Amino acid sequence: MKKIPFNQPHMGGKELFYIAQAHINGKLAGDGPYTKRCHTWLETTTRCDKALLTHSCTAALEMAALLLDIQPGDEIIMPSYTFVSTANAFALRGGIPVFVDIREDTLNLDERLIEAAITPRTRAIVPVHYAGVACEMDTIMEIAQRHNLKVVEDAAQGVMATYKGRALGSIGDLGTYSFHETKNVISGEGGALLVNRPEYAEAAEIIREKGTNRSQFYRGQVDKYTWQSIGSSFLPGELIAAFLWAQLEEAEQITKTRLENWSRYHAMLEPFEAKGMLRRPIVPEHCQHNAHMYYVLVESLNERQRILERLRQNGIDAVFHYVPLHSSPAGLRYGRTHGSLAVTESQANRLIRLPLWLGMTEADQQQVTRACAAFQIREGNFVEAV
Ligand SMILES: *Cc1c(COP(=O)(O)O)cnc(C)c1O
Repeated sequence: MKKIPFNQPHMGGKELFYIAQAHINGKLAGDGPYTKRCHTWLETTTRCDKALLTHSCTAALEMAALLLDIQPGDEIIMPSYTFVSTANAFALRGGIPVFVDIREDTLNLDERLIEAAITPRTRAIVPVHYAGVACEMDTIMEIAQRHNLKVVEDAAQGVMATYKGRALGSIGDLGTYSFHETKNVISGEGGALLVNRPEYAEAAEIIREKGTNRSQFYRGQVDKYTWQSIGSSFLPGELIAAFLWAQLEEAEQITKTRLENWSRYHAMLEPFEAKGMLRRPIVPEHCQHNAHMYYVLVESLNERQRILERLRQNGIDAVFHYVPLHSSPAGLRYGRTHGSLAVTESQANRLIRLPLWLGMTEADQQQVTRACAAFQIREGNFVEAV
């Protein structure tokens, strides 16, 4: 029986060559030639105003909270069904995450529930594009405009995905990407901040360079650099940027291959969905996703545990996903909920992520789908499905 890991970080081939080049260039700190190449690529591909590499998407979210000048007591509307950093970045500044329920179909922040959660203290909305499938950005931007709120897109999973033809992360005031090894395009740890409003560009550079105007100094715009505001060290070194550059060069091919694997799962699981055994992902017409994730929703928490166990017995490493933040130990210490989070709780309990990585074969995927749907126990009865 072949072991199938949940994820295998992909290397295209040029990563180590570019790292060697960076060393030969003799510049290993941040903002060297490879970082600049990555910035230009991101700016061209996403059409954002300014892209800045960071250590992680977490770091980019923390920069966003600083840029928006989040103050203690400010409220930030976001899903509970997300990664810790979405909330933690704002909680670090004393902001209060306000958790709103998600949509049943895409598992994204339910835009129909946002307006009721707005109070005089609300400062921002943070939509998270789950699995690289876009939130309803037109509605979210319209609500934000009407209430004078900022929008930070957590597009950690959204590299190379679009909403009505626009790159995820380029639609809100700010957007954040992750290049963590579990994402599509990787540098081990890594991320980027996309700045979509020119008025934030200079402040973002300063925050990223320890609160100094060192970037302007390097461009010869000032004759010395000094402490300008609070900030931190958010920029990665050139070795990371060199690795990432090799991945960005290949980003289109990576996405294409992942989409092929994704579609194969989708076709293989169609008959099981037709029998009512599971639900496959739903991608709205106007969203081009990036095959970041393939998941299925099963009937109950209990059934999920049994299927995960069965997958493990078949050598397959499948996993569940977020523990909703409002039900985590820190969730309600730093944040609060607005309204029912019934959809969040239900989907979080029933979701299984299947292995998806470059190099998976059709046979691998067959092994996964068979083990996943071979039998289920419902109301005490075995249901043979294949
Ligand atoms: C992966 C992820 C992050 C964190 O990314 P890092 O680069 O590991 O900091 C944040 N938000 C979401 C939605 C993610 O999926």
